[in-house]
Amino acid sequence: MSISRPKGTMDLLPPLARPGPLQSQAAFSRILHSAGQVLNRAGAQAIATPILESRQLAEHGVGQSSDIVLKEMFEVRYQGGHGDLILRPEGTASVVRAYLENGLKQLPAPLKLWTSGPMFRAENVQKGRLRQFHQIDYEVLGSDQPLADAEAIDLMWSVVQVLGLGQAHLKVGSVGDPADRERYRAYLRELLSPAQERLSPDSRRRLEVNPLRILDSKAPADQELLSELAPQNLLDFLGEEAREHLDAVTGYLDSWGVPYQLDPSIVRGLDYYQRTAWELHHGGIGAKSALGGGGRYDGLSELLGGKALSGVGWALGVERLLLALQEEQSLQEPELGSALYLGALTEAEQPAVLALARELRALGTTEFAYRPRPAATHQREALRRGARWLGLIGPEERGSGRVSLKDLASGERWETGAAQLAAQLGWAAGRDTSR
Ligand code: AMP
Repeated sequence: MSISRPKGTMDLLPPLARPGPLQSQAAFSRILHSAGQVLNRAGAQAIATPILESRQLAEHGVGQSSDIVLKEMFEVRYQGGHGDLILRPEGTASVVRAYLENGLKQLPAPLKLWTSGPMFRAENVQKGRLRQFHQIDYEVLGSDQPLADAEAIDLMWSVVQVLGLGQAHLKVGSVGDPADRERYRAYLRELLSPAQERLSPDSRRRLEVNPLRILDSKAPADQELLSELAPQNLLDFLGEEAREHLDAVTGYLDSWGVPYQLDPSIVRGLDYYQRTAWELHHGGIGAKSALGGGGRYDGLSELLGGKALSGVGWALGVERLLLALQEEQSLQEPELGSALYLGALTEAEQPAVLALARELRALGTTEFAYRPRPAATHQREALRRGARWLGLIGPEERGSGRVSLKDLASGERWETGAAQLAAQLGWAAGRDTSR
């Protein structure tokens, strides 16, 4: 019997397996670390929310007419369960729920939060589209200022700059205020109703509830009709306030030199967006080219039963970033070589090896052989494990309290006192220089 992982999920492998970038745990961690550093330096506070959430949160937060809720939700079955729990499909609703539930409005506003973790959507699996994927989420709560939107976009852009992605590009637009969208919906209904029998069954249903979604539809029938009718864009329907907001956001981006393209066609898939909406794309990763997306969601808190609360934020897809890094070949090979491998030549030296290894681990990566072996065997094993240094203790060294050390990169050998070893490897006390 062989059991494999569920479709649309991935295993991330250790450096020693020399995985390609897409499957590299080291590369994955580096992305999270880099993003975290950008966000922490902007004053964002890290937060974590559960992977299990209530179905209600997704229904109210993401929206009942969304594909995510209608078709892609992972429901959790458990002893005594009543379909009330799901695996979260995205992070924003959870962060806002946590903010409301834990009284974080007591904290200074605007409050910048960030989080990361797995999200789940039962999608058709293809390149760049998984069922369990990971997002980095950044959210600013408690500000309706365009500066909050502009800073959020700038931070998203900074993350891809720090990762060294040269082929990313931003598309910025606006989905308007609720009244603007209502006017636009009425326009779409009027435009599409006469041809409704040509729409896909899903879109025919959406015509009344939420015709905006038809613009997002992947069904060929819908796409054909839309390209024929060429509807006007939502940007043409913006009221004065939403227009001023958008102009202010793009004004900041212009003044900071953050490159973007104004895109009138951006309609974010989730119900809760208002005003600014944007996407970050990459030219080299195929049809699923979005690295991330974001927007303002001033109405979300009320949808979740809270008081009015302004919010703006974004999510980056970690696997898409890995794809993009692979495409641009800007992933450095995971570093293996800075560890020390210690071995004893006979049983009598094994306790000294173990004691030394335990001490050195405070300063750098130290492995030891579980059994005494001849020097050549230890060396082979050290190389297989990607160690940089080999330290051997045999009967002679034990007598003199020394270690025989070899730099496996240069072949240079020397003897050193156990106490001086760390300094010789450049491992300073109190600082782990091994990684
Ligand atoms: P969304 O929450 O749909 O706005 O998605 C934000 C980002 O998450 C997207 O731009 C992708 O990078 C990533 N993402 C969304 N869905 C998936 C998926 N099924 N597989 C992999 N990445 C995804």
